[in-house]
Amino acid sequence: MFCEKCGADIPEEEIFNHGGKNYCEDCYIEIISVPQACDPMAVRSARLTRERLGHQGTEGLLPIQKKVYNYLREHGKATREQVAAELGLEPKELEKHFSVLRHCELAKGLKEGNRIYLTVMDAASK
Ligand SMILES: [Zn+2]
Repeated sequence: MFCEKCGADIPEEEIFNHGGKNYCEDCYIEIISVPQACDPMAVRSARLTRERLGHQGTEGLLPIQKKVYNYLREHGKATREQVAAELGLEPKELEKHFSVLRHCELAKGLKEGNRIYLTVMDAASK
């Protein structure tokens, strides 16, 4: 199947459906994310900055981002609603922090059935 936004060819099990359209994970999360009034460049360059600084794992993250990451590690996976409620975050706050984790390749979205979970990336558990 093809992502309707970027046109990437993606296996069916990795398709995210939104509004009757199919998207790859990146485009999906981009679409559902609130418009990033909050310094999108900081998010985009997060990974490069971290590489330059030699940061690994959760080094260099904000405390709340570490909390989100640790929560997901502890629970394996959780929905946005769960994480937001547990950590007392506004959903859009969570989205902002989660997107930093994603860009640092620490966390990702995970689709199971019709639910989207947040989870940590395996590579980060080393
Ligand atoms: Zn896409």
